[in-house]
Amino acid sequence: MSRFLNEKYKALKEYVPGEQPKDMKYVKLNTNESPFPPSEGVVNAVNRENAELLRLYPDPDCSELCEKLAGLFGFEKENVFVSNGSDDILNFAFMAFCSDGETPVVFPDISYGFYKVYADLHKADYQQIPLKADFSICADDYVGVGKNVVIANPNAPTGLTLSLDEIERIVASNPENIVLIDEAYVDFGARSCIGLVPKYDNLIVVRTFSKSYSLAGARLGFAIASKEIIADLNKIKFSTNPYNINRISLIAGCRAIEENSYYMNNCKLIAKTRRRVTEELRRIGFEVLDSEANFIFARTAEMDGETLYLELKKRGVLVRHFTVERIKDFNRITIGTDDEMNVFLREVKTILGKA
Ligand code: PMP
Repeated sequence: MSRFLNEKYKALKEYVPGEQPKDMKYVKLNTNESPFPPSEGVVNAVNRENAELLRLYPDPDCSELCEKLAGLFGFEKENVFVSNGSDDILNFAFMAFCSDGETPVVFPDISYGFYKVYADLHKADYQQIPLKADFSICADDYVGVGKNVVIANPNAPTGLTLSLDEIERIVASNPENIVLIDEAYVDFGARSCIGLVPKYDNLIVVRTFSKSYSLAGARLGFAIASKEIIADLNKIKFSTNPYNINRISLIAGCRAIEENSYYMNNCKLIAKTRRRVTEELRRIGFEVLDSEANFIFARTAEMDGETLYLELKKRGVLVRHFTVERIKDFNRITIGTDDEMNVFLREVKTILGKA
C-alpha cells in the first residue's frame, strides 16, 4: 500500500478470484467455466475484419446486443443493460442503490463473496443473513425485510435454489426496495424470475455469458429490469467508463444469442453429468447438496476439505476450497466434460482408498 491511498480504502479486503495457475495443465474444475467451446459463429467473429475495426471505439449503447437480448426474453431494448461481466453490473448496482449507507442491503452470509466486497467498497449499510442449517436460504428472512435484497439463485457456492414463488414473495413484499436476483447459474436447471420483471418495478435480474454461454474470457453480463432501473445503471456506466465492453466481445455476445440452442443444449449435458457425479459421490459416502448449477458442493467425513483439495491439486485436478469456517469441510467442484469428471472421480477414489 502506498502512503497516498485514500483513508476509506485502506481497510478494504478485496475479492480473491479462483486460482488460474500456469505451472501445469490441470483438469480445471475451480471457477465454474463451461467445458465446451463457444459456438461456431462466435469463434468466426474473432477474425481479421473485426480485429481491424478495433481502431474504432465500440458502441457505448451496445444497441445490437441489447436488442438481441430483448428479443430473446420478450422485452424492449430499454429493459436491458449489458456490461463487462456481471461483476460490473453488481458493482454498479451496489453503487447506484446501496452506497453510503443510504438504503440498507441484506444478502446471505454464505453466497457469492463479491457482494460483501462491493458493500464494503461502496460503504453500504449491510447485514448478512445466515443460511439455514441445511445451507438453504430461508425466504421468510427476506419477506418484508424493508431493505434492498441481493440473492444469487441458484446460490453459490451451494447450488441450492429458491422457488419462483419464494422469489416473488420477496420481491412483492419489499416494494420500496430493490431486489437483485443474480441468476449467473440459472440456465443449468433452475427457473428464472425474468418473467416477473414486467410486474415488479423493483426487481433486477442479473445474468452472465461466463457460464452457460462459454464466454468467461469475453467478460459479458446483462441485466433485465424496468426502464427506469436500467437508466440508473446507465447513469453510473456513463459516469465511469462508457466503452466498457470491447468490440469483439459485443460481436461474440450477438453471435452467441443467435446460436442460443447450442448453449442451452450444453447446459442440459452439464446437468446430466452433474446428476451422475452427484450420485457417484453419494455412493462413496459424500454429502452432496442438491445443486441446480454447473457445480456441486460436497464434503466427506473421511477427509477435511482442504486436504482433499490439496491432494486433488497434487494429482492435477483443481477444485475450489473456501476457508470460511462454516463451509471449510466442503469443496466446490465445477462440472466439466464426462471425461474430466471421470478423472476427478478416479482421483477422489484413489485418495480415499476406494479405487
Ligand atoms: N455472480 C455469481 C453468483 C458468480 O458466481 C459469478 C462468477 N464468479 C459472478 C456473478 C460474476 O460473473 P461474471 O463477472 O464472469 O459475469
